[in-house]
Amino acid sequence: MSDERPPVPEPLPHPVVDNHCHLDISRDGRGAAAWDAREAIDAAVAVGVRRIVQIGCDLPGARWAVAAAAEHPELVAGVALHPNEAPRILEAGGRAALEAAWDEIEQLAGAHPKVRAVGETGLDAFRTGADGRAAQVESFRRHVDIAKRLDKTLVIHDRETHDEVLEVIDSEGAPERWVMHCFSGDAAFARACLDRGAHLSFAGTVTFKNAEPLREALRIAPRDRVLVETDAPYLTPAPHRGRTNASYLVPLTVRLMAAERGDDLGELCAAIDANTEAAFGGGW
Ligand SMILES: [Zn+2]
Ligand SMILES: [Zn+2]
Repeated sequence: MSDERPPVPEPLPHPVVDNHCHLDISRDGRGAAAWDAREAIDAAVAVGVRRIVQIGCDLPGARWAVAAAAEHPELVAGVALHPNEAPRILEAGGRAALEAAWDEIEQLAGAHPKVRAVGETGLDAFRTGADGRAAQVESFRRHVDIAKRLDKTLVIHDRETHDEVLEVIDSEGAPERWVMHCFSGDAAFARACLDRGAHLSFAGTVTFKNAEPLREALRIAPRDRVLVETDAPYLTPAPHRGRTNASYLVPLTVRLMAAERGDDLGELCAAIDANTEAAFGGGW
């Protein structure tokens, strides 16, 4: 893993939004992020990535996201306990700690008009084992409920849990606006999400060599339902896979998306910008 920053890509012909980023997280989960937030935002703006949705994944991260959105005009925030965080809190602090954490997420979600989303929530079978699943599902349901009651966008993390995510969405009822972040399914799963009203957000993974089923999902998605994200500092697009990701690398992903779909690059960027406002609201 190299800390050397990939070169700056050619700027986009029309602004887009990176709708899922972790400006506060370092690549290995320890220590400081590779970039200062202001520096990372400025680098993104310089290539046409004018706005960013900052996602907080635990209580400190959620508090940070709210403060960052209040401070930086280019940011709005999402707050939640990540699917891997809920079982961890339960194990460390018991039921009372998890209840208190959900309460604080709800309070933070309503704390500022620039908090637009509840997420990332959802399910993760990759990092959380069977013993953590019940807490994960319950936490997902709680977040769906918070999003609906506060009229926030629901941002879903789905890692190897496609069917289970749809089961929860179907039993809870989909919220008004919801996003499948780092969409990782094939065309059939894309249709199932689209039928239920989701926006599909594509990350650097869509540029990976072995991602042909994912690229097919991208090709069949209607242009008014497609979003782009980094999930930085993770999931750096090709040809820089393995390095630290940042929002200024979004043009690499968008260019691949336009080529795959046969879309004009400027038109796809304009659509992504408008779709992000439809998903998260405008005015920022
Ligand atoms: Zn995620
Ligand atoms: Zn994320």
